Amino acid sequence: MIKTTPMTSVYITRKLPEIAVAILKEKFEVSMFEKNELFPQEQLVELVNNYDVILSTPVDKFTKDVLEKAEKVKVISNYAVGLDNIDVDFAKSKGISIYNTPDVVTASTADHTVAILLSLIRKVNEAYHSIKLNQWKSWDPYIFLGDELTNKTFGIIGFGRIGQAVAKRMIGFGLNVVYYNRSDVTFDDFIAPFVKKVSMDELLHSSDYISLHVPLTDQTKDLINESVFLKMEKKPILINTARGGVVNTKDLIEALTKKYIRGAALDVTDPEPIDRSHPLLEFDNCIITPHIGTATTVCRSNMAKLAAENIVNHYFNGR
Ligand code: NAD
Repeated sequence: MIKTTPMTSVYITRKLPEIAVAILKEKFEVSMFEKNELFPQEQLVELVNNYDVILSTPVDKFTKDVLEKAEKVKVISNYAVGLDNIDVDFAKSKGISIYNTPDVVTASTADHTVAILLSLIRKVNEAYHSIKLNQWKSWDPYIFLGDELTNKTFGIIGFGRIGQAVAKRMIGFGLNVVYYNRSDVTFDDFIAPFVKKVSMDELLHSSDYISLHVPLTDQTKDLINESVFLKMEKKPILINTARGGVVNTKDLIEALTKKYIRGAALDVTDPEPIDRSHPLLEFDNCIITPHIGTATTVCRSNMAKLAAENIVNHYFNGR
């Protein structure tokens, strides 16, 4: 068991749900960036030199440059499942333990994947907006005609927790689910009869919808690029609730322009944030939300609880 002193210090880089502070205050000296805005990134070096533990958010960039200067920090607990904001290998080589918040984000992110897909293909935003513009004059057999999901093929790249949760939802919608994962995965008996493992190429050839659920790593950066778009024979809808960097933005704009794909539903972009002058906002067949996959009250509270418990377990339960 790792020993702590009453003075073990924890810094939380954003005003997070109260439960995190409540858990941590029982055992540690806790400080928090009180504003609900991005922690000044130029001050991260100060943090790693002054605190034993940092509870970070996915926008805090713990690069090799920052971590190289780390003299004090021993634990970084990330308020996210993705760890692409942290140079994990380098941190570990310096003896810094890294934690994330898996599982508790799965349902909300899978729900949001479905939400943006359906919003796009059933033109929910435009339809609602038309009422605000006073354009609803009568029932109309021709307005806002969209896609029907049933019997289509839904391809999932990255068949981990969120990919499988999306599969369950899509099975319910009557789609044929195919998946590609770089390694063998285990999953519930419940979904086994309804999903088929395929090669990446087969998935690209056969899918009407392609949903991305891989982490952002050196191997998955720009995984979806021009040559990959060109293999998408059925001109699918691309859904990305993973990380913006998994898709090459320039190639995505070209794919939308040249109609290699029917549309894109994105919760993440590269870079983030984007402003209203960004070219992606010029496409009617592209919907974007501002990285809100985990944005449910329950999920955010569970993330805060788990991020805090990860720190407690590190010090008191020998993790
Ligand atoms: P997970 O680890 O359970 O699943 C990821 C899967 O991708 C694994 O099965 C892994 O083997 C596979 N994989 C990794 N590299 C691959 C590659 N090169 N090719 C094919 N498969 C590969 O993770 P998860 O909990 O399902 O989360 C997935 C990602 O979703 C996270 O890393 C995070 O970046 C993103 N995410 C985004 C939001 C959001 O707010 N939009 C919320 C939660 C998670």
